[in-house]
Amino acid sequence: MTKIVIIGAGFGGVAVAARLLREGHDDLIVLEKADRIGGVWRDNTYPGCACDIPAPLYSYSFAQNPSWSRRFPPHQEILAYLERCAGELGVTARTRFGTEVTAADWDGARWVISTAAGERIEADVLIPAVGQLSRPSIPALPGAGDFRGVAVHTAHWTPDVPVDGRRIAVIGTGASAIQLVPAIAGQAAHVTVFQRTPPWTLPKPDRRYGRARLAAYRRMPALMRASRAGTWLLTLVTGAAVTGNRFADSAVRGVSHLQRRLQVRDPELRAKVTPDDPMGCKRVLFTNAWLPTLARPDVDLVTEKIVAVTEDGIRTADGAHHPCDVLVYGTGFAATEFLVPIRVTGRDGTDLAEVWRDGAHAYLGVTVPGFPNMFLVYGPNTNTGNTSVIYFHEVQARYIAQAVRRIAAGSKPLEVRAERAAGYDEEIQSRLATSVWTGCRSWYRTAAGRIVTNWPGKAQEYRRRASRLDPADFH
Ligand code: NAP
Repeated sequence: MTKIVIIGAGFGGVAVAARLLREGHDDLIVLEKADRIGGVWRDNTYPGCACDIPAPLYSYSFAQNPSWSRRFPPHQEILAYLERCAGELGVTARTRFGTEVTAADWDGARWVISTAAGERIEADVLIPAVGQLSRPSIPALPGAGDFRGVAVHTAHWTPDVPVDGRRIAVIGTGASAIQLVPAIAGQAAHVTVFQRTPPWTLPKPDRRYGRARLAAYRRMPALMRASRAGTWLLTLVTGAAVTGNRFADSAVRGVSHLQRRLQVRDPELRAKVTPDDPMGCKRVLFTNAWLPTLARPDVDLVTEKIVAVTEDGIRTADGAHHPCDVLVYGTGFAATEFLVPIRVTGRDGTDLAEVWRDGAHAYLGVTVPGFPNMFLVYGPNTNTGNTSVIYFHEVQARYIAQAVRRIAAGSKPLEVRAERAAGYDEEIQSRLATSVWTGCRSWYRTAAGRIVTNWPGKAQEYRRRASRLDPADFH
């Protein structure tokens, strides 16, 4: 029987494990370093944390949920949904918690996986599903070590981070910070937000789901599928706006301008929050509360460069000192460093970190020459700025299941042809070179500027190209 090891029990790992179990691949384990299913939805518990893609789409197509409380549910609901799916689909029972993978080595016939506890586990097929947003990035600010208050990254938030009556500094204005700040303003004595570049925002079409709607969903699941399809159509518009459709771009841009005009009366503040980089070069953020929160008297938006952290605050380039008791890093994730810190060596001892030295790449984001029988979930260039990554996970799960079927039937390792992978990468990178994502610094790009996270086209194109494994692509 083909032995399969999946690393990571987030949305991606659960999707592929569920697919393989459904196809009868029983010799499968999921190795999860934490003590719970959930990935980013287990790790991110900061106040205000919620979905920013409507839940009917940010969920599995095969497990639509008739119980969402609202269109953009809070993180606890998404985590509970994922845990329920993992349990019902048999994935939890196959998961070994508290097992951190440190290395994976191809020994010529099998993968040998090493864990932090010193265990060695053999597998025919290795499926890393560790996500792109699992390792927090904290800038090395001068003096950060001297800070005497509480310093915390949004992804490391715990319930005992003090907020009540405290002066809180938040560095960053990305998706995490724009959810956190409105949730703590008013409870904190004061919030100072440090913005390097303003994000593009759009109104969040959030709404509570009433009892009648939920009852109808339970009685007629087709209605849930219709709601999912409606959401999908909406994301096509925002997707078109960032992938070159001029009409969609100016329509969405107009809505964003109108939001700033209506929500920010003070022209000075409005100027500070008006982006001047191309819309969509970073993630466009859905929010109703961010701009009004910045206008509150107990919230300051600082746009001066941070020069140092002091014992009790932050100093900016204009010489001002901004005292704080709690320092929150909303500074994002090391998204371009795929699989770090796991050391992976493939055929002939090839080091994956070396292969990816100038930026990670993989054929269809899934498979890498020199690394037989290894298939990534949410690998390089499979992120989407506008629709749901879970859609991509499901496509990858289907593709990987085809690969596993072949491996199980054939007994020979499956390795993608180097020339196919190189040609694919050239195509993807040349399309990305003219994309909106080249327009600014973001977690999509390496320090050298290569875009390693994002898929260049529409989600449907990815689905079409990865829906069927072509044996000619492999040795
Ligand atoms: P992020 O989008 O990468 O934002 C990081 C922020 O920190 C940016 O504003 C960045 O400024 C700022 N920053 C970084 N280093 C800095 C420094 N040295 N000095 C000053 N500012 C600095 O990170 P994130 O907000 O955690 O979001 C990451 C991704 O997670 C999102 O794009 C989204 O995909 C996902 N997410 C999803 C949800 C959800 O609702 N589903 C919620 C949260 C996050 P610049 O813009 O100038 O670089």
